[in-house]
Amino acid sequence: MTSEPPTVASSDTTELFAAEDLLIASATDIGRVRSVNQDSYGQFDDAVRGYRLLFVADGMGGHRGGEVASQLAVKSVAEVFESSAAQPDDLLRSAFEAANLEIFETASQDPELAGMGTTGVGLILTGESRTWIAHVGDSRAYRLRGGSLIQLTADHSVVGELVQRGQLTPEQARVHPQSNEILRALGTQAGVEVELTDVDIEPGDVFLLCSDGLSGMLPDSRIADALSGKEPEQVAASLVELANEAGGMDNITVQIAVIPSAPEVSTPGGMPSVIRWTLALALFASALYCASRVF
Ligand code: CA
Repeated sequence: MTSEPPTVASSDTTELFAAEDLLIASATDIGRVRSVNQDSYGQFDDAVRGYRLLFVADGMGGHRGGEVASQLAVKSVAEVFESSAAQPDDLLRSAFEAANLEIFETASQDPELAGMGTTGVGLILTGESRTWIAHVGDSRAYRLRGGSLIQLTADHSVVGELVQRGQLTPEQARVHPQSNEILRALGTQAGVEVELTDVDIEPGDVFLLCSDGLSGMLPDSRIADALSGKEPEQVAASLVELANEAGGMDNITVQIAVIPSAPEVSTPGGMPSVIRWTLALALFASALYCASRVF
């Protein structure tokens, strides 16, 4: 697993894109084995601030538990996102904490839902070149840049910890018998430790949020290949298809956000800046020469 090295949150953010220019696509599928889809996801806009939030939750628990937990997580996260004026990191933390409490309290009032919980991974896109991802559990965020895929989140799972300690490779973890044992969830306890990851963004980056029904079925190399496709809707659909072809052992959910490519920086004639500067210098020099002849 390649996690982003820890970075200090800095103020050197630059405005990179407008939220309305983002290309976002989502897909969810029950898979080929399960009888219920316990994954949920949401995509929300804050038109005033120009923020967008992508969120994926993978519920667990008997009866209706998993489904209810992941749906409650989406609802709680959306409510905080739409009502809070906090900065992205604080906003994500409080949204996840609210989701945790909502699920925990609902579970404690209904024996059928006792013990339910869900993972959560959320990404806020503000238009700036730095932002935050929050996660709890083994739902993941990835970033594809220049053909290279990086996993931005470290799984809160038994095998995830072994990967971080260097005792398993990501590929060994993926097919390990304990691969679905998670160590943190939303809603299973009164409090939750939310992990926040500071990420940088460049034009053309592709972000992927997914449940383990995708990442457990496909090696990163195949995810990277599929993400390199052109149309986000097609990419989302093909990721689901590939996970199903690989067995579809679990519910599959993907959300993709494509950061717009940098606009061409050019003069109206499309002249590269090196040539522009060379011409400007030449003109200046000839002007000096003419001036020296006149005076
Ligand atoms: Ca799952």
